[in-house]
Amino acid sequence: MTAQTRDEATHQRATPSGQLRIARVESFILHVPIHKYVEDSFNTADRWGLPGVILHTDAGISGLGYTSTLTHGDTAIKAVIDELYAPILIGEDPRLHERIWQKLFWSKAHWVGRLGITTMAHAAVDIALWDIKAKAANLPLWRFLGGDKDGRVRSYNTDGGWLNYSETELLAHLRGIVDQGWTAVKMKVGKPDPREDYARVRAARRMLGDEIDLMIDANQVWDLTTARTWASRMEEFNVRWLEEPLHPDDVRSHTLLARATRIPLAVGEHVYSALTFRDFLEAGALGYVQADCTRLAGVTEWLQVAALAKSFNVPVVPHHADMMRVHQHLSAGLNASPMLEVIPWLQDIFEEPLCIKDGWVYPPETPGASTAVRAEKFAEYRVA
Ligand code: MG
Repeated sequence: MTAQTRDEATHQRATPSGQLRIARVESFILHVPIHKYVEDSFNTADRWGLPGVILHTDAGISGLGYTSTLTHGDTAIKAVIDELYAPILIGEDPRLHERIWQKLFWSKAHWVGRLGITTMAHAAVDIALWDIKAKAANLPLWRFLGGDKDGRVRSYNTDGGWLNYSETELLAHLRGIVDQGWTAVKMKVGKPDPREDYARVRAARRMLGDEIDLMIDANQVWDLTTARTWASRMEEFNVRWLEEPLHPDDVRSHTLLARATRIPLAVGEHVYSALTFRDFLEAGALGYVQADCTRLAGVTEWLQVAALAKSFNVPVVPHHADMMRVHQHLSAGLNASPMLEVIPWLQDIFEEPLCIKDGWVYPPETPGASTAVRAEKFAEYRVA
């Protein structure tokens, strides 16, 4: 036996068998038209942005990860990947996700970011790592995570409830979604006059009847007083949850609101850190955790949040399963989610369109995280 230090021996035992190293980091930006114009209380959208990264390994396997935007800020996210993360990824074994997560978190990005653009860039890299890990195991990510049976998850559809729809359009779109088999829908609130929200939610509930789950989403624009007043009034409409009523960092106000209304609160699509989720949960503020692996630092941090939520006995209902395709795998893999959000805008760009039957999402059996984009669409929508 050749001489070997204790550190060398430990390192060799800890390294997975078989050579697999990151050889090239290819960042990209896709801007995809969504073929409609929509508004919520503070966003408008007619395109979807996918800044992301392909990690090429020396073993022929590659992984694709992306974060999700309304196309703004994409060049900044790409620059973080190119300038701050790519140099420290080359040569790493992509299966060592925790080691790489720590390297990126404690990289030079730490000084200028920690939360926000740097986290979203981190998410893209981490998702690409999990895509590779599952491919290396020859399993779809949800089975790699431990999911069994058919993995199906009930979904709800948000695409009928935009704030720029007239009440007549709103009811027609919600009706159309229910007619396609969905049993749960979400609609936006946050009109300048909340009395209009009240009237629209009342009309939606009357049209849907009591058997359909109805959720409402204020996209952060209410203050605590407005939220208290109107959440209480809307309790009569049997709303399953009130989403993002307030500033998403404001744990205290959510806690006070949760005590003031019977409607459970749902928060998370703009929460960047497992630590913030811990504080929300510890305060008893949330009825649903809406963790998003493209805004948290990837699958690695999402799994921490899911474990936290489980320990507080609060269900996880991830942000979109179509734009953020990994969520179908996370929900199915952990059997953690009673529901999953669907807004089917990007169905035609991915190699594996989301499989939806009667409002249920069935995760694919192909190895990886289902993030692969069809080559012709990748070329058509690539802007950088
Ligand atoms: Mg929302």
